[in-house]
Amino acid sequence: MEKILIRQIMFQEMREELKNSEADAEMYMKFMKSHCCYEAIPTSCKLVIFDTTLQVKKAFFALVANGLRAAPLWDSKTQRFVGMLTITDFINILHRYYRSPLVQMNELERHQIGTWRDVYLQYSNHCLHSIAPDASLFDAIYSLLRYKIHRLPVIDPVSGNVLHILTHKRILKFLHIFKKTVPKPCFMQKTIQDVGIGTFRNIATVQQTASVYDALSVFVERRVSALPVVNEQGKVVALYSRFDVINLAAQKTYNNLNMSMQEAIRRRCCFIEGVIKCLPDETLETIIDRIIKAEVHRLVLVDKEDVCRGIISLSDLLQAMVLSPAEISSKSN
Ligand code: ADP
Ligand code: ADP
Ligand code: AMP
Repeated sequence: MEKILIRQIMFQEMREELKNSEADAEMYMKFMKSHCCYEAIPTSCKLVIFDTTLQVKKAFFALVANGLRAAPLWDSKTQRFVGMLTITDFINILHRYYRSPLVQMNELERHQIGTWRDVYLQYSNHCLHSIAPDASLFDAIYSLLRYKIHRLPVIDPVSGNVLHILTHKRILKFLHIFKKTVPKPCFMQKTIQDVGIGTFRNIATVQQTASVYDALSVFVERRVSALPVVNEQGKVVALYSRFDVINLAAQKTYNNLNMSMQEAIRRRCCFIEGVIKCLPDETLETIIDRIIKAEVHRLVLVDKEDVCRGIISLSDLLQAMVLSPAEISSKSN
């Protein structure tokens, strides 16, 4: 009889513990479900929209001139937004049409955005993914991760206007601003190797002696957002992200993709000094603080010898902190 009573008490305690740990894990998921996209929109920001009849080359120059990373595309025939133009599109165009420094890329010089999209969309998804301002941030995260995109336009369903372009960075920053209102879950004190958040196998890297065209090929084939640049000893010496490719437009050097990575990195005009890294024994809290402070999309996980062991991207963090507690896996989709 006594044994049964002890067992029942133990069982009750275990259930209580489980309930607490579930509540702990669901903290950020609940936060994102209880705030809408409109709340995460900054009070003022620049937004540029391109008509699909604009020449692609002019569009990328306009992104550079305005210091922007992406723009919604407006089709004046159908009077609706049909897609986004991002630096990934610039990478795809260069990778597809580049031959050699001596051959001009006529397609880049002459194509309208619409013509490029007709070519490109034969192989990929056609529709624009957008979100309404009153939809939850949880839904925004779901769309960003599910469709593997980095730009989600917030469109007002009444006026049809784009209000803002949401990104992983903006959403995590919003959480950071409100962090005092959310109790800190215990898992924030665990080390990155214990929680296992990130990618730790088959990391796409590029040698510093490789050409820019080689790097673009990795971006296109692996669809990763950045490449740790490594030296002959395998040590991480720099980071080259898709964003950095826009320098080729800014400096009009896109006709020489045979340039080495070392040279391309040296020539960047807007970049972060050094590599923002982390070690496997650092806590999740430290890592999140560092990634937010540095305003980067990922940290490079290195060992004590500075050899790349993984990538911890904002996608990994949002998946683990927000979608996984709701039992949603963007990887399986
Ligand atoms: P980047 O990291 O260069 O900003 P993305 O990862 O967001 O680019 O874009 C990858 C591809 O998906 C590009 O071809 C881009 O045009 C397209 N894309 C980006 N955002 C959206 C969206 N909201 N809806 C549909 N397609 C998109
Ligand atoms: P986006 O805002 O388009 O997501 P990224 O964060 O990928 O852009 O890149 C913005 C700039 O920050 C780029 O110059 C890139 O090289 C740099 N950067 C991104 N992540 C790191 C990192 N972990 N270490 C050093 N520089 C980085
Ligand atoms: P991102 O495109 O950075 O939002 O990341 C999407 C997924 O790709 C995440 O699981 C990242 O960990 C992973 N990832 C990002 N960069 C690399 C890379 N260079 N090699 C392997 N995986 C990566």
